[in-house]
Amino acid sequence: MFILKRGYILVVFAGALLLAGLLLLRGFRARAVPASAPGHGYTVYLTFDDGPSKNTEAALDVLKAQGVRGTFFVIAQADEYELSLYKRIIWEGHALGLHSYTHDMHGIYASTAAYIDDFERVRDWLLESTGISTHICRMVGGGGPGLCSKAMRNAIVAYFDENGYACYNWDIDPRDSGAYPKAADTIARNIIDAARKKPDQDLVILLHDDRMRRTLAQALEIIIPYFRERGYDFGVLGRDTVLDGSRARMGSD
Ligand SMILES: [Zn+2]
Repeated sequence: MFILKRGYILVVFAGALLLAGLLLLRGFRARAVPASAPGHGYTVYLTFDDGPSKNTEAALDVLKAQGVRGTFFVIAQADEYELSLYKRIIWEGHALGLHSYTHDMHGIYASTAAYIDDFERVRDWLLESTGISTHICRMVGGGGPGLCSKAMRNAIVAYFDENGYACYNWDIDPRDSGAYPKAADTIARNIIDAARKKPDQDLVILLHDDRMRRTLAQALEIIIPYFRERGYDFGVLGRDTVLDGSRARMGSD
């Protein structure tokens, strides 16, 4: 009986020691990034377009394991499985923004009215299907010069302003979209190379989580530690987010 009791005390003692050790290690890790680290005081916003898909699920798993939140600009996916992912995004503390209903570049950019119609369709569909409403968005293709005239872009941005939406582009595009998935280390290297050229600012990073982006989760496993080790925080975009030095927030010009 005495031996059993002693054994029990030993196990409890060893457990307490292990816990103390882990807490200490966490403390050391948190202190390991000095205030002079290049990213200190700046925030990285990881953003994901064109999902959700099964690749969103893998990305969410990595974000959860790393304790990082991101921003998902979604399209309409009616599949039961994908419907559950919009809710998981919200439940796990990420931000969700509107991207497009059809993502049909040609149709969307046929006119300002066509663009706004597609936007309102995804907004209404998301609310009806999931109960989620949001006031952040990203234009399809970023509303770039190859897609629409400056006048049309300004008219769309004015619509967002008048209706209380904050619209975000990005500071870094690793060119991860396209017909085939890019290797994870190529995506990570593209991001890191671009980040080095923009050292003194917040960074909004464009990524994609559609069905083709099978290497996304693996890329996140490289990208997140890279920024964390350099002292960056990770944030989510909201209607009132103020970005330091970043030009990602859209305004009419
Ligand atoms: Zn897109």
